[in-house]
Amino acid sequence: MAHTVIDSGETHRASAAQTAIDPAVPLTIRMHPLDNVAIVANDGGLAAGAVLAGGLLLRDRVPQGHKVALEALPVGAAVLRYGVVIGHALQDMAAGSWVHERVLQMPTAQALAGLPMATVKPRPQSALEGYTFEGFRNRDGSVGTRNILAITQTVQCVAGVTEFAVQRIKTELLPRYPNVDDVVALEHGYGCGVAIDAPGAEIPIRTLRNISLNPNFGGEIMVVSLGCEKLQPERLLPPGSIPLVDQRQLDEGDAGGRGTLDVVRLQDDAHVGFMSMVEAIVRQAETHLQRLNARRRETVPASELVVGVQCGGSDAFSGVTANPAVGFCSDLLVRAGASVMFSETTEVRDGIAQLTSRAASLDVAEALVREMAWYDAYLQRGSADRSANTTPGNKAGGLSNIVEKAMGSIVKSGSMAITGVLAPGQKLQQKGLTYAATPASDFICGTLQLAAGMNLHVFTTGRGTPYGLAAVPVIKVATRSDLARRWHDLMDINAGRIADGSASIEDVGWELFWLMLDVASGRKKTWAEHWKLHNALVLFNPAPVT
Ligand code: CA
Repeated sequence: MAHTVIDSGETHRASAAQTAIDPAVPLTIRMHPLDNVAIVANDGGLAAGAVLAGGLLLRDRVPQGHKVALEALPVGAAVLRYGVVIGHALQDMAAGSWVHERVLQMPTAQALAGLPMATVKPRPQSALEGYTFEGFRNRDGSVGTRNILAITQTVQCVAGVTEFAVQRIKTELLPRYPNVDDVVALEHGYGCGVAIDAPGAEIPIRTLRNISLNPNFGGEIMVVSLGCEKLQPERLLPPGSIPLVDQRQLDEGDAGGRGTLDVVRLQDDAHVGFMSMVEAIVRQAETHLQRLNARRRETVPASELVVGVQCGGSDAFSGVTANPAVGFCSDLLVRAGASVMFSETTEVRDGIAQLTSRAASLDVAEALVREMAWYDAYLQRGSADRSANTTPGNKAGGLSNIVEKAMGSIVKSGSMAITGVLAPGQKLQQKGLTYAATPASDFICGTLQLAAGMNLHVFTTGRGTPYGLAAVPVIKVATRSDLARRWHDLMDINAGRIADGSASIEDVGWELFWLMLDVASGRKKTWAEHWKLHNALVLFNPAPVT
């Protein structure tokens, strides 16, 4: 990002500019000295005839976020953004022309053989000491940022009954337990009507299991089961996976020193009528609420943060403002000893060489290749390729294809060495920067990062999405000031100030870091929490349904 140049009619300067630029002055952003295109930064775009810095005359109207040719691009010419070939010209274009997705041929995907493996040793950075937040320490050592009772479900069949019970728990019980933040039903579409032993079925099953163990749920596990479903409670949460939650369980636990599974089974003979089921769930919930309510926040080091980053509704500014700021913050988190996960396989696939070279070891690099190859095969099975990722909104926002989108997406990961790789649904076991392989779908990615043990989520958006999760606070970062102004009560941070010239990447990165500590501590709520906006859990199930 050090190469970023913001060109206005009056100034040439790096992104660290501190004063706002006159909106009437044509403003373009070039990401790398090799680039032969720049993007238009002005709200509303620029009209044909506008004169850019250096005297270049725009030949076409160019919308905000879209690319302008900085030199003549003959047919076949490589078009570079981020110093990377994002496509080849399909027609002759004069300097000053609008370069959009219909005049660009997307490059073929990089082969997974012959990649640079663990070749780059990122410059060591000093440790950040002394940063803390107020969190809920769990018996297994993990730390919650919220204190939530989660009700796990084995199957979709029980969702309606569980939701009815949850409403009663919230109105009748929750007011008596003021240290508990919320009650959340872990509703999902899995559990029956699925090929439960097929290859790939372990992904949704371990995802559900590991979500139940998310640090924000305090190790309190209760399950609502129907009775006849394929995914039986003991398969979802086998003995040995249940954490012990109090001394009584420590005394009574099995020989392995683990807790027992607390299940309400709706088909049990004991239940006569709907209210009997509801009352059983409410009664069980109260024992968990009592224990959760006894917990208090305590001061813990920032190294206990487990942050998942992703983007959604991306535009051409994502890779200029919000994602670089998140990347700078990712570096701060890693320096503070925390865990950071980045994901979204189809959005890093075209930058795989950047990732394998940054891997801390050959093992990590090979694990990255393994996840990419698995996903290539998964897409191939569905007769799709990576070009299926980009949306109409991405293209309207100036992203011509997945290569350009990927270059902007990867910068969320910052610059540190990649020290871990997770397959979908696996639980994170280490600090530092990890690639958690997930689809790019916002809901599926968020669900899988929850399973990995995320206790704080950062989400960047350019087109805008009101995305939220019930289990974990989601900090949303806007890529453009126009979006931040219009969605002033949905966006938590405005990274558009970087393009406006009123803040640097470092400024916004630090602002995000401080906001994370405040949100993690419960001192501040995100807008999604304020409005109680949250999306569904969506399981990644690559296996067949029956
Ligand atoms: Ca996404």
